[in-house]
Parts: sequence; C-alpha cells; structure tokens
Amino acid sequence: MKAWVAKMTEEHLDEDAIRRAGEILKDGGLVAFPTETVYGLGGNALDAEASRKIYAAKGRPSDNPLIVHIARMEDLEIVARNIPDNARKLAQECWPGPLTMILEKTEVVPLATTGGLNTVAVRFPRNRIAQALIQSAGDFVAAPSANTSGRPSPTTAAHVIEDLGDRIDCILDGGMVEIGLESTIVDFTEKTPMILRPGYLNRERLEQILGTVKVDPGILAEEPAVRPKAPGMRYKHYAPKADLTIVEGPEEKVVQKIRELAEEQIARGLTVGIICTDETRRKYSAGDVKSIGARSEEASIARHLYGILREFDGDHVDVIYSEAFDTPKMGQAIMNRLLKAAGHKLIEA
Ligand code: AMP
Ligand code: MG
Repeated sequence: MKAWVAKMTEEHLDEDAIRRAGEILKDGGLVAFPTETVYGLGGNALDAEASRKIYAAKGRPSDNPLIVHIARMEDLEIVARNIPDNARKLAQECWPGPLTMILEKTEVVPLATTGGLNTVAVRFPRNRIAQALIQSAGDFVAAPSANTSGRPSPTTAAHVIEDLGDRIDCILDGGMVEIGLESTIVDFTEKTPMILRPGYLNRERLEQILGTVKVDPGILAEEPAVRPKAPGMRYKHYAPKADLTIVEGPEEKVVQKIRELAEEQIARGLTVGIICTDETRRKYSAGDVKSIGARSEEASIARHLYGILREFDGDHVDVIYSEAFDTPKMGQAIMNRLLKAAGHKLIEA
C-alpha cells in the first residue's frame, strides 16, 4: 500500500481530500497530517483497533500512550473528567495551540489509546488542516508524531513519506510545520501542575497563567533518580545514526573547540558533520557544515532541528558536533531534544 498525498495550505484547504481522509479515519485507517508542532499520525482515538494500528505502523511500544486531538473546546468533557479549574483556565489561554494536558480519562477512551493508563493526554491543535481533519473524522483523533519510533519527529510531509509512506493510507501535506518541536505536556493529575515535556510554551509562560508549575525531575538529568512520568520520555529518542556531541560555552571558544575536534576526526579518516548557526557558519572550514538558523531568531533553530538531524542521517557522517542552543524562550525545549539525541554527551569549551 502506498499512501496517497494531498497537498494544501491552511489558507486553501482541499475540502474534498479532507472529507476522504476523514472517511479513512472513520473506517479505522491511518492518516498523517500537519499540526503547528510536528506531523501527527492519526487514527480514530475511540477505536482500540485503530490505536493498535498506530503502534504497529510506528513500531512504538504499546505502553507509550497517544495524544487525543480535539477541534472544539467542549469536546474536552467527552474524553476527560474531574477537570481542575486551572486546567480549564490554561485551555482557555493556550488552546488551540501547542499544549497537551494530562487528565483523568472517561470510559469512551479505550485503554489501547492511553497505553493502559487511566489518564488521557488531550490537545486542541491550532493548525487549520488538523482542525478540519479532526472534525471530518468524527472529532477525536489519536496522533503521536508521524515518524518511525526512534527517528526524529517529522517536520515536513517528505519526512513522513520517508518513514511511513508505505504503511499508512493517506498523508495531508501542509508544507513545513510552524514550530518544529512537540507540544508542551502539562500533567494535571496531581496537586501542582507539572511539565512532563518542555515545548514552545515554557515554564515562565505557564506560571503566568497557573502560578507555581513543577518540572518533572525525571526529564532533567541523564540518569535521574526518578523515572520520567511521560512514558515516551523514558525511551531513547531522536537519535541520529552518527555519534553526536554538543559543545557549550562562549561562542568563540565553542567554535574553536569544534574546529579542533573536527580536524582530529578528519585526520583519523572519519567524516564529520557540524551544526552551527548563521552567525558562526563562515568560521568553520572543514567538515559537512550545516546552519540550523539564526541564533537571533530562535524559532528558526527549533524549526530546523529535526530536519538537520535527518539530513545528517542521509549524509552518512560518522560524527556530528553541535553548538549548544540555550536560547531565551525555547532553549529548554531545544536542548531537551538535542541532549537526548546526543545521549547527553556535552562538552564545556
Ligand atoms: P508523541 O505524540 O509521539 O509526541 O508522544 C506523546 C507523548 O505524550 C509521549 O511522551 C507520551 O508518553 C505522553 N503521554 C501521552 N499520554 C500520557 C499520559 N496519560 N500520561 C503521561 N504521559 C502521556
Ligand atoms: Mg514522538
């Protein structure tokens, strides 16, 4: 089976393709679609069999729960119950948008969708293609990222085709995504809301709305004393084929250190990739050098991260050195993904 691909933009939806894709989902099939964060692999969230198909297509462990996507505020009540007031408040402020909330689930959500948990992850995405598809599919679409398990999340339809093109029914191609990192996950099942996965909405922003917000201690260290609460954060994720090391410190020193390391490896006969920024691009002479975007424009760094990791897989380099990207707003989210991809190999220059 080869997936059929329908191209469209948020401004000009292909209504006919969305109707057909909605039918596929209602019939238990799988459709990949763009959201503002990354591409999702959708199945009917209320159909246990469809959820099993998602796990199989991705090669994802079945104890790693899926996010249920909705396209109307009031649909939250159908999949979640005992919703605390602060969760409602956050939804009012941040939905539609890159926010996922963990809440107690209702009976309509099968355990196959929640990885056996009594809680459910819910998101109302802002992307209009995603919203139209969810509505045409009957309002509840389970969707993890549309990549093969262990590969970087897809930020273009081409990435989805590369990983899943012959395992799913249809792909809605809405061009490159806007944000490029997965949604912020906030857990509301305990007293104080807790960030289980950092994303575009950072702790400062959440605290403006909610007051005190904790960060899951399990996501901060390489081998934390506590296990991350989100099952997906426990797996080794986003790992490029090459051995990736991050170098942090003042810009001049970082550039010098990466240049030295690259030269050493090249002298040993290895091929080297370098992830830098527009600001430092011309300071590197050896190796396969790729700029991730402008440091002065952190959104461009987030958007290009996964694409660059995929490019290096295609280039078959042996080692990659990356500058660190502790940018002001999304730095936590970017470094969380990059550190995981690097297996936490970080050098101080
Ligand atoms: P993905 O959609 O591939 O970005 O993955 C969804 C993420 O949400 C994974 O890290 C899951 O472990 C996490 N998640 C989904 N449902 C729950 C839940 N009920 N409790 C905790 N984490 C969840
Ligand atoms: Mg994922």
